[in-house]
Amino acid sequence: MKRSGSSRLESVDFHAIGISSDSENNPFRITQRQLDQAAEILKLDPSIHELLRWPLRELHVTLPVKMDDGTVKIFHGFRVQYNDARGPTKGGIRFHLEETIDDVRALAAWMTWKCALVDIPLGGGKGGIICDPRSMSQGELERLSRAYIRQVGRIIGLEQDVPAPDVNTNAQIMAWMIDELAFMRGVNEFGAITGKPLALGGSAGRDDATGRGVSLVVREAAKLLNLDLKGARMVVQGYGNVGSHSAVLLAEMGCKLIGAADESGAYYNPEGINARDLQQYVRKNNGLMKGFPGLGKSIAPEALFEIPCEVLVPAALQNQITKLNAPRIQAKILAEGANGPTTPDADPILYERGIYVIPDFLCNAGGVTVSYFEMVQNAYNFYWDLETIHHSLELKMVAAFHSVDEMAKKFKVHNRLAAYLVAVNRVAEAMKLRGWA
Ligand code: NAD
Repeated sequence: MKRSGSSRLESVDFHAIGISSDSENNPFRITQRQLDQAAEILKLDPSIHELLRWPLRELHVTLPVKMDDGTVKIFHGFRVQYNDARGPTKGGIRFHLEETIDDVRALAAWMTWKCALVDIPLGGGKGGIICDPRSMSQGELERLSRAYIRQVGRIIGLEQDVPAPDVNTNAQIMAWMIDELAFMRGVNEFGAITGKPLALGGSAGRDDATGRGVSLVVREAAKLLNLDLKGARMVVQGYGNVGSHSAVLLAEMGCKLIGAADESGAYYNPEGINARDLQQYVRKNNGLMKGFPGLGKSIAPEALFEIPCEVLVPAALQNQITKLNAPRIQAKILAEGANGPTTPDADPILYERGIYVIPDFLCNAGGVTVSYFEMVQNAYNFYWDLETIHHSLELKMVAAFHSVDEMAKKFKVHNRLAAYLVAVNRVAEAMKLRGWA
């Protein structure tokens, strides 16, 4: 190694290159530190390492949107193309009031590792708009989505960069976006955006793909640990797309949902909460679980992670499991449905305590895997049935799970570092072959 990761960090003027915060929990700094650890073990070529620490490209956009009351509001958005050595960049678009460029950078980096880990020929990207979608009408959301594509459309495309839904965006928003892109280009380039509705070139099985992936890797982990999922207690934070589908599919494998939380509150019911009924309720109740009969008793949000259980699925936010609460987690398997739910200082604690962590970019890779299948189907203009999607997804998730487990055993490292070793190695190989270092 030329220099250690930390001395590199000190050598960069962060403000000069637009890094918004130097704090320990800045997600982009976290991704850099995680990469640095992997680079050291892999003895990565120093220039490849340095290049991998930064996004290759990013676009900051300012969007005027006519609101329903006739005023024009100005929104800010981003698109980051982190690394495209293995293929076009791929990653979702978030609508969130607290979105920052560093969040988007971190998520784009994780997409790079995620695509490499499940071995699909794509790089990593991400997008976001700072907005509060819950306070906007459908018309305002449509105009915002179209305005974003009018700016970002110049750098996206089937062979460049392929967005998808993420937090607070959905198939309808993707439909408006692909329509705007079609106006701009004069062609229907369906494969340029995934997570579209079925009637518009979407893929069967995309809706629950991330949750299905979570359930498949939990199943593999349980087999390794000789843990019977029949009757296994499960706790889920976040009951949106990832959390609710993970809970429903794990419940089908026999798990019992005993704790659940979303932004409306946290709940504990040792008798079990009906995962599917709760999902139906949330869909009809503006996305929130509050008021569902059978939730049990209301608890403090931070108490959720301390409920004794076999399977814990954080599927909401970043930085939920830290060195402060990691010593109190009572789960056997921690399946990271969300991106970045665990801070780096919690990883060694969880590892020493024998908690089997399925790291985010392995655990939640089902979504991007089926998005990739969507791109393939769009390219052929031929659509697969649900069975084919489920089977193909299972093959990818199971192979990725075992590649991480083998790497963890080989280097005696925790699973997150092992996942980095597998993924970074693959991206670095592509970079070398392309002559980037
Ligand atoms: P979503 O918007 O559908 O659901 C988010 C859930 O988190 C909601 O239930 C919301 O109420 C809950 N939540 C928000 N703030 C909370 C708080 N303070 N405490 C507890 N719960 C809170 O989002 P999603 O698509 O399910 O994504 C969740 C996570 O999974 C994100 O980190 C996202 O990046 C990641 N992810 C999503 C996908 C996908 O396919 N949707 C794929 C990979 C990773």
